[in-house]
Amino acid sequence: MQISVKTTDRTQMVDITAEVRAAVRESGIENGLVHVFSMHTTAAVTINENADPAVTADMLAFINKVVPWDDHFKHMEGNSSAHIKVSLFGPSEIIPLEKGSLVLGTWQGIYFCEFDGPRTRRVHITVMPG
Ligand code: ZN
Repeated sequence: MQISVKTTDRTQMVDITAEVRAAVRESGIENGLVHVFSMHTTAAVTINENADPAVTADMLAFINKVVPWDDHFKHMEGNSSAHIKVSLFGPSEIIPLEKGSLVLGTWQGIYFCEFDGPRTRRVHITVMPG
């Protein structure tokens, strides 16, 4: 199944935990693994703290410093920075599913990471029973 994520900035981390939970509920599967996959070369998926919004602000500020938008890249489309960030973060995460609930720590949230927005994006979710 897929969910749509609308982003509003060039780089942005969007908490999609609630949307993933809803998709998992819809599957009817109670136990197994949940794979959350960004179908894009310039947007990633990661898991990190969702309690203090300063954490994602710091992460974005840091990654934008490490991989600046313009660094004399060769790629004609002009968005090599976004491609590099996606390979650093990774396109997907796997979350355990037990008794119908995602097994996430108290402070963990699932983030869609936009690196070349704003755009409307697609995230593919697979629930693997087991
Ligand atoms: Zn490109």
